[in-house]
Amino acid sequence: MTLVRLPDGGEVPALGQGTWHMGERGADRAREAAALRLGLDLGMTLIDTAEMYAEGGAEEVVAEAIAGRRDEVFLVSKVYPHNAGGRKLDAALGRSLKRLRVESLDLYLLHWRGSVPLEDTVEAMERMRTAGKIRRWGVSNLDVDDLEELGPALADCATDQVLYNLGTRGIEYDLLSFCRKRGMPVMAYSPVGQGGALLRDATLTRVAARHGVTPAQVALAWTLREPGVISIPKASNPGHLRENAAARDLRLTPEDLAALDAAFPPPKRKRGLAML
Ligand code: NAP
Repeated sequence: MTLVRLPDGGEVPALGQGTWHMGERGADRAREAAALRLGLDLGMTLIDTAEMYAEGGAEEVVAEAIAGRRDEVFLVSKVYPHNAGGRKLDAALGRSLKRLRVESLDLYLLHWRGSVPLEDTVEAMERMRTAGKIRRWGVSNLDVDDLEELGPALADCATDQVLYNLGTRGIEYDLLSFCRKRGMPVMAYSPVGQGGALLRDATLTRVAARHGVTPAQVALAWTLREPGVISIPKASNPGHLRENAAARDLRLTPEDLAALDAAFPPPKRKRGLAML
């Protein structure tokens, strides 16, 4: 299994699991937790969640999924921008840990940039790291200029979690290489385009047919085609989980990549960072 190295030397699987929209309906929770457990069995041991998802409900589903298996999991959660500084961050983290039923997180991310100054967020993150409540911190939805604003603290930032899939390639213009140069992986969210129109694209479908796989598998293998990217598809359907895990073995050929580049051209100029 491909591993991705974090700036502090820690390693995580390149393919993990997302949890957005889990925990929204009580009736689905057991099935969602079972899906996450299947994902763990398949080696997708990085789980990404957030206090925002179902207002804590997704973290509760994760708690159920990882009960008795904490040591296998690289656990990521995110703090709302309005909680991302001072004692508010301490309290938000405390609530997340309680919902997740764990002592500490492996990674805690600023979900997106709000009005709290970045230096206040870094100060609070570092305090939580010293207290042993998080192993490391990172950011999400930050563009190059925001990352530069972190100054020397950027060296301690473990990742930038950003929207990245075939249909949204803006980070290839500068953010991806900016992060690579610093040994900082990006974490690609919505890698299968939320299971929507992207997966019905004719070129993607043709490439998939050539390999006898599904369009989603090609979309995932594409996000993992180069080093320094962690991909976190969300799947509640066991069939989707098995497909996604198998996408790790799919190697796209230069012809595949050229066809995909023609259908989904890489960026030619700078645009604002896309986010959901
Ligand atoms: P996604 O992973 O691209 O798509 C999830 C959707 O695709 C689900 O409806 C899922 O269906 C479906 N799917 C998964 N595997 C599939 C397959 N093999 N074939 C067909 N459909 C498949 O989108 P996402 O959930 O937006 O992004 C992934 C994760 O990134 C999130 O869950 C969250 O953890 C994180 N995220 C972060 C941010 C941020 O601002 N930092 C924003 C968005 C997302 P089933 O569930 O029915 O299997």
